[in-house]
Amino acid sequence: MTLPPHATLTIGVLREQAADEQRVGLTPDSAARLVAAGHAVVVESGAGARAWFRDDEYESAGAAVGPRATVLDAGDLVVCLHPSAVLHALSPRHIVLGLLQPLLDPQLMARMAEAGVTALSFDTLPRTVSRAQSMDALTSQASVAGYKAALVAADAYGGFFPMLTTAAGTTKPATVLVLGAGVAGLQAIATARRLGAVVTAFDVRDSAQSDIRSLGAQVLDVGVTVQSEGGYARQLTAEEQAELTDRVADSVGRFDVVITTAQVPGRPPPLLVPERALQLMHPGSVVVDGAAGDFGGNVEGSKAGHTVVTPSGVTVIGAGALASQVPRAASTAYARNVAALVAYFTRSGSFAVDLDDEVQAGLVITHGGRVVHPAVRALLEGTS
Ligand code: NAD
Repeated sequence: MTLPPHATLTIGVLREQAADEQRVGLTPDSAARLVAAGHAVVVESGAGARAWFRDDEYESAGAAVGPRATVLDAGDLVVCLHPSAVLHALSPRHIVLGLLQPLLDPQLMARMAEAGVTALSFDTLPRTVSRAQSMDALTSQASVAGYKAALVAADAYGGFFPMLTTAAGTTKPATVLVLGAGVAGLQAIATARRLGAVVTAFDVRDSAQSDIRSLGAQVLDVGVTVQSEGGYARQLTAEEQAELTDRVADSVGRFDVVITTAQVPGRPPPLLVPERALQLMHPGSVVVDGAAGDFGGNVEGSKAGHTVVTPSGVTVIGAGALASQVPRAASTAYARNVAALVAYFTRSGSFAVDLDDEVQAGLVITHGGRVVHPAVRALLEGTS
């Protein structure tokens, strides 16, 4: 394994450790782009295998391939999807980049600061700043996840999504309800519509209604919406959330398929489909909880990576890492976000952190042995 002697930055790519993670942080295409820009890339052997990227493709792109220890030894910037891929071997010379979920796990960020690591997380990128959009991994991955959520639902549903007319008669199209109409939800709506379903959707942000209609879906009116805050839904008060859950529950029984994608940044996902709503659904109906993960989900009792059939015959799928289930497309998009971020941080010729820059201030969580991101620091100090 040989690395160019005068590379600007050596970017290390690790194989993800989580059993359900098939993505890789950098693809051969993006590696070639980074090498052309003067960086060195070193990839852990087999890192891309589960997304169908072979070691020799990375080598042809100008990257070196080697064992994990070599990647950690040579890499300045270590790219991952989840922090579990990197946690045990970091030193102060490392810059770590991933979807680190700093607002949900601030203690992990405190440990990274103690280790002297510079941690950059895509989760806290200021997404509405236009120069940040090429780095928006939340959007690229949510888009893949929403697409897959609709496919998972169609696959589990025992009927057709489209209306079909045959010599034996006509079948009705499936009725699909999408809860949460952000990036993932809109992609789920579009995909379910392309498959021929009749789609209705709800989002608590009032501004989402026009997005839903623009995709040809109907808006479920439950009489509860809030103004967006910086483009996002705010966390509802306990009373508001209880009222919303109640009203959504009353509607859920009308649908063959429910897909949920509701999230509040830095908070556990809101409960939208309680046990009571599942009982109102007919046997054979399907619920895909696209928000199910380590920090909860939108459907009562759903668990990431698990499918259960309720006593009344409703299939509840805790979808878990949906983007990971389309690993080639998701990795390709993520790798482009990584390459854009590297270009942004190395504009001056070498890697430089500038916390006066709005985009960098959003991305940088730890630096110089400190947690520097204000929202993460507030969580650690108990002032948020
Ligand atoms: P997200 O993943 O945080 O949340 C998904 C959706 O869940 C959101 O639309 C949110 O309103 C909704 N939600 C939250 N609580 C809910 C509840 N109790 N009931 C129903 N729905 C609930 O959000 P996201 O998809 O990443 O994006 C949110 C918004 O930001 C969207 O409007 C999106 O278009 C916008 N956005 C803008 C840019 C940009 O300007 N470049 C980039 C990305 C996203």
